[in-house]
Amino acid sequence: MNNKIKEIDNEIFFLSEIKNIINWDSDFVSTNKNNKDKIEIINYINKQRNEKIKRIIEDSNIILNAEEKIFFNELQIDYIVNNNSPELEAKLNETIFNLKNKYTIARNNKDFSLLLNEFSIFIDCYIAFFNKKELIGQTTYEKAFNCFYQKVSYKTFKDIVYSLKESLPEYSSSIKTYCETKPTEKNELILIELQRLFNVEMDVISFHKDDNNSLDFLSKSDIRITLNYNVNNYMFIKSFLHEYGHALYLLNISDDIHLKCLQLPFSKEFDEGNAKFMEKLLENQKFKKYFEIKFGIGLNPIYDNSSRITSNSIDYLKLCVARVIIEEDLLNNRITVFQVKDKWKKEIKRLFGDKLIIVDDSLILDDPHWFFGQLFYYQSYILSYIYTQNLYKLSLNKLDYTKIDKQEFYEDLKSFLRNFQMYGKTKNIEDIFSEKYGIKIDYSITFK
Ligand SMILES: [Zn+2]
Repeated sequence: MNNKIKEIDNEIFFLSEIKNIINWDSDFVSTNKNNKDKIEIINYINKQRNEKIKRIIEDSNIILNAEEKIFFNELQIDYIVNNNSPELEAKLNETIFNLKNKYTIARNNKDFSLLLNEFSIFIDCYIAFFNKKELIGQTTYEKAFNCFYQKVSYKTFKDIVYSLKESLPEYSSSIKTYCETKPTEKNELILIELQRLFNVEMDVISFHKDDNNSLDFLSKSDIRITLNYNVNNYMFIKSFLHEYGHALYLLNISDDIHLKCLQLPFSKEFDEGNAKFMEKLLENQKFKKYFEIKFGIGLNPIYDNSSRITSNSIDYLKLCVARVIIEEDLLNNRITVFQVKDKWKKEIKRLFGDKLIIVDDSLILDDPHWFFGQLFYYQSYILSYIYTQNLYKLSLNKLDYTKIDKQEFYEDLKSFLRNFQMYGKTKNIEDIFSEKYGIKIDYSITFK
């Protein structure tokens, strides 16, 4: 083991843990307070990280084993993106904090125009950040894409989006623009039952009424799931399964991996794929029936396109495709932030036809990723759909779904997933599919 690599791995992991805690604090505890202090701490952490990476990258005598090479490759990309522009990185962070604050106001008022100035500064920063000669790709968008998605080629992804654009049916369910779901009781009891079935052992599960669902990874021994329980039972179970899917991945990664930075999910998109695979349990009639009988409730999906989370899987993809198209236009300077709303309306109309009536700005504001500074997230939602389909297909041979109402099923399920999750970042997902199961990942998704 290379000592220098081991040392930098420890330090980078420690710095990212601090960042996770600051983000947790800023999202849930001291929300808009002390932002200036937080920005300063984040900037300081980034500066430390950049200097450490610089030292190791410039050391030409370094000898690496296979595991270290994977980590070193990530450091190199980090180095190209961040080291030349600490000022820009600091400005980008500050802009994201401002944007987050404005987003809350815009969302409460359902008024996208309140965000335009901040969002515009953010996009300009972002373009400057990724528009670097050293990065691979023809356009700014492609360069940034290649930084985020080193495991999938830009061309493969383009083909996927193109085939989706062509094949997604115009509308797929009865479309409502307002959520009619009523919060129902028993979610607390359902949670206990889900934890029993899965034999969940986690230190903290916290609840925030009226919040988005999320998983926060503070450290290897501190994983926090936030669930909104002010929803109907169906949505509640679905959210639990999804977020628990993320938690399970983090918990299943083997401690035998030497570098801490590699003890993380293989990729964001595969992480999401695992989480969505868990959601698919709810499509199983036996699983649904089990909860319905046990709690005397009806578990019916109520699809509602006022949000990506509540729409059905096809409409979900459409909302992601629309955002991906707009991101590409924005980063390649084909449109400005001030034209986003018109472009959004046009894309939504093209994808949904006349069935989805846009009344206000709720739909565009519903999803916080853009306004939390996370571009390139919808790409991972699209890719995760593919991984989910592949995992599910394989699971039909490996798991006995007739036992889905029995606890043993969940132990088998956890082992099934562990086969994919245990390697963390050290093993390519395509290799796992081919080496362990002799099959290739099928990237073709079409609804024709
Ligand atoms: Zn997720």
